Amino acid sequence: MRLWPRRRPVPAPERPRANPTHVAVLEHDLLGVKPEPGSAAALTIALRRVGSCFEHDPVDTSTMADPRPTGQCSRCGRHMIQDSEGHWQVVLQP
Ligand SMILES: [Zn+2]
Repeated sequence: MRLWPRRRPVPAPERPRANPTHVAVLEHDLLGVKPEPGSAAALTIALRRVGSCFEHDPVDTSTMADPRPTGQCSRCGRHMIQDSEGHWQVVLQP
C-alpha cells in the first residue's frame, strides 16, 4: 500500500530553436561557409546581389590596412567603398 502518489516526470519546456536559414546566412557572412545549393539560405544570399536595396546604408568596416575607407551595406550586404569626396559606391565584383 502506497501512502504517497508517485510523481510523474514533467517534460522540459521546448526551447525556441534558431532559424536554420538565418544560421546558414550568418555562417556564410562570418565564416565563408557556402550554403547548400537550392536552399533558402542560398536564395537569400543570391537575392542580395540582385540589388533589392533601394538606398544603401553603408557601415564603415575599414581597418588600418585599407588604403581607402571600405564598408558594407547593412541592408543588402553589398561591399562598398568611399571615394575621395566622401560618397559611398558599391564595389563591382566580378
Ligand atoms: Zn544596400
